[in-house]
Amino acid sequence: MVVWPRSDSPYAKPLPQTELSILTSPESAVRARSTATSAPWQRELRDSIRDPRRLFEALGLPAELAAEAAAAGADFPLFVPPSYLRRIERGNLADPLFRQVWPAAAETESVVGFTDDPVEDAAFALRPGLLQKYAGRALMVVTGACAIHCRYCFRRHFPYDESPPNERVWAGAVETLRNDPTIEEIILSGGDPLTVVDSRLARLAEQFAAIPHLRRLRIHTRLPVMIPSRVNDELLAWLTGTRLTPVMVIHSNHAQELDAEVAAALRRLREAGVLLLNQAVLLRGVNDTVDAQADLNLRLIDLGVTPYYLNQLDRVRGSAHFEVSVERGREIMKELRRRLPGYAVPRYVQDQPGAAHKVALA
Ligand SMILES: *Cc1c(COP(=O)(O)O)cnc(C)c1O
Ligand code: SF4
Repeated sequence: MVVWPRSDSPYAKPLPQTELSILTSPESAVRARSTATSAPWQRELRDSIRDPRRLFEALGLPAELAAEAAAAGADFPLFVPPSYLRRIERGNLADPLFRQVWPAAAETESVVGFTDDPVEDAAFALRPGLLQKYAGRALMVVTGACAIHCRYCFRRHFPYDESPPNERVWAGAVETLRNDPTIEEIILSGGDPLTVVDSRLARLAEQFAAIPHLRRLRIHTRLPVMIPSRVNDELLAWLTGTRLTPVMVIHSNHAQELDAEVAAALRRLREAGVLLLNQAVLLRGVNDTVDAQADLNLRLIDLGVTPYYLNQLDRVRGSAHFEVSVERGREIMKELRRRLPGYAVPRYVQDQPGAAHKVALA
C-alpha cells in the first residue's frame, strides 16, 4: 500500500465525476441520488457516517469532542461505514477501532519531519495512474475513493473527490503494461480499488489477462474487512475468472476488526482460490503491544490469511500521534518471534523512497 500522487503530479488533475462521487458528497445529496438497484455494499457506503456528531452520538461519547473532531477533520473528512461502526465498543475513547477513524485534535499540530508526500511516490509514475517502484510489479491507482478514512493514511492529503476512476486513464495504463514485457504482476490500489463496481473491474481484469506477460493480479484493499458484503459472487467471478493468479492483500490492524462476517467473507475468497495476505500499520494506541500483535496475527492465520507486512508508519502530516519508535517496533517483533509460529510473524518493513524493495527493520 504505498502510492499516492501529490496534488501537483500529472495524474492528480480533476477528472469527471462518476458514481463514486457518492463517497465524498454531503449525506443529503447522496440520499437524493441513491438508487433502489444498488448492491448491499454500495448501500453501506452510502449510509456511512460523515458527520462527527453522528459518530459520537452513536458511540455515546461526549458531544464537545465531536466539535473538535469536525475541525480536525476539515481537510480529510470523517468516513466510517456502518459495518465497522458496529465493531467499535461504545463509550470507549481508547477503542482501537475508534482511534483509527477519530479526527483527533492532535492532527492539526505540525510536527517536524511529517510531510504531505512522505513516500515520494510522485517520482515513480510510469504514466498517469501507473507507478513502478519495484522490479516486475506495477501498481495502478484505479480510484481515490475508500470505504473508510484511516487517520494515519499517507494519502490523506490527496484531493479524494477529484479522482474518480477514469476509463481514459485506465486505458493508457493498460497500454503501458502491454508494451513492457518485464512486468509480470499488476497491483490494483488506490484509494481502494474495490470501491469501483464489479462490471468495470471485470472489464479491466479481462484486459490484463489478454497481456501475455502478465501472470498475477493483486488487489490491495481494506474492503473485505470494512464492508464484508463486498465479497460477492460478481467480485469472485472476475477475480478468479481469468488465467491470472489472484492475490489479495487485505489491511487489518486489530483482531477486533475480524468478526464473524469478515471471517465468512475471507472464507469465500479462500475457497475461491485467492491467495490471502494481510498488511497492518504499527500504530500507537491501536496495536503497539505484543498482545495486540499476537492476537491479530493468530486470528488472521485462523481465518486463512497469512500475515505479510507490518508497516512502520509513513510520516505524513497529521499522523505524528500514531507513531511508534522503530526501537519499540523491534522489541515487539522480537517477542512475537518467541511466541508465534514462524508463519504467523509478519515482516516489519518501511517504505523508503529510492529503495529497490520495502526495507526490513527487524
Ligand atoms: C509496496 C509497493 C508494491 C508492492 O511491494 P511488495 O513488496 O511486492 O508487496 C509495489 N509497488 C509499489 C509502488 C509499492 O509501494
Ligand atoms: S483504506 Fe487504505 S488508502 Fe484508504 S484511507 Fe485507509 S489506509 Fe488510506
